[in-house]
Amino acid sequence: MNGTNPGTRRYYIWSIGCQMNDADTARAAEALERMGFSRVADPRQADVLLLNTCVVRQSAEDRVRGHLASLKSVKRRRPDAFLAVMGCFVHDAAQLQRAYPYVDLFLRPSDVEGFVEAVRARMDSGEALLPPPPAPVSVYVPIIYGCDHFCTYCIVRLRRGRERSRPVEEIVGEVEDWVRRGAREVTLLGQNVDAYGRDLPGRPDLADLLEAVHGVENLWRIRFLTSHPADMTDRIIEAVARLPKVCEHFELPIQSGDDAVLKRMVRGYTVARYRDLVRRIRETVPGVSLATDVIVGFPGETEQQFLNTYRLLEEIRFDVVHVAAYSPRPGTAAARLPDDVPPEEKHRRLRMVEELQERISWEINAQLVGKVVEVLVEGRRQGRWFGRTRTNKLVFFQSPENWMGRLAQVHVAHAGPWSLSGEVTDGLTADPAESAEKTGHH
Ligand code: SF4
Repeated sequence: MNGTNPGTRRYYIWSIGCQMNDADTARAAEALERMGFSRVADPRQADVLLLNTCVVRQSAEDRVRGHLASLKSVKRRRPDAFLAVMGCFVHDAAQLQRAYPYVDLFLRPSDVEGFVEAVRARMDSGEALLPPPPAPVSVYVPIIYGCDHFCTYCIVRLRRGRERSRPVEEIVGEVEDWVRRGAREVTLLGQNVDAYGRDLPGRPDLADLLEAVHGVENLWRIRFLTSHPADMTDRIIEAVARLPKVCEHFELPIQSGDDAVLKRMVRGYTVARYRDLVRRIRETVPGVSLATDVIVGFPGETEQQFLNTYRLLEEIRFDVVHVAAYSPRPGTAAARLPDDVPPEEKHRRLRMVEELQERISWEINAQLVGKVVEVLVEGRRQGRWFGRTRTNKLVFFQSPENWMGRLAQVHVAHAGPWSLSGEVTDGLTADPAESAEKTGHH
């Protein structure tokens, strides 16, 4: 790679996993582009290769191992190409180095700086950086890394370490920079954003951070994820209700609707407490949408315990449910429990939740037919513009105009479980406060 001219340098990135990985991947890609690299889809053409990995489920880890194995021949043919592996797959770098000697560098999750430094060190020094490219309409900004909970099924905390919050000023500075380059919506990210600031001097919390980010001019929308039911506070809920730019949407994983299972998961709350939290959120934030995560087939989950989850989902009626069948991850506490729900039974429970939720999401979305929703347009897909409502619903519409990065008022004509579509009635390129009033937010 040494001596390659900027403009002829190429990079390849393969990334799976959570939004934190997406955010890290986007940062790494941007840094490479500023160094003059352009992206290629074929790893055989790349001078720099990055795999950003996930091991949250066995299937993800299998995909990482498969992809890594396929790059062995690429490296054999191009020994000067630089191959780095980052993310939750990387726990014991020395052991991985022995298993994959053709990998040049293993980096812990989110160590984008380490990656960029290593690339820079291999390039000719002293070159000026290219100006940063325009920002996407909606960007992710990490605010806290790691997690101090001990959920027994979770491998992420074992790989990402203890909680580390970024200072408020650093986050605000990054958001200002994105907005200067054209971003209009920011999603504040963390394994547990409700724990934000506990490790910082003065202990600012997520409500303080939302307030500070809210002050960034020309930023229209603020989101945050993921929350933890044991750490969500009234202060945070009130900040969502009070601050017009903060969208009415919570990602609040419940995982199970049965107290005994929640206890075995060491989630730190009961069903009653979760239910009360949902009540407070719905009372304080009118029109709020709620998304949740559920695991079915956790060790020892009886039919009755599963039905408790099922009935709770029927009762709460989330807008979105992400459901997964339990798979044991080596090194976690739950992996020592007998994985005693048979695979076909896990699959049946998964399908039951999916079918239930498809119906509920459809019913909730159908209530929007005939109404006007405000959509921040993020791009085009198959000839249609698409974007999201404040409540995080995906909306499509057709228009010959250029709607990129604008707020469109869309009259909803059709609703499905996963998206809405309609006709644009009006739009604006600035001053969302006015449109927030129009649509009755806050
Ligand atoms: S809250 Fe639980 S599931 Fe989420 S990252 Fe922390 S330990 Fe894992």
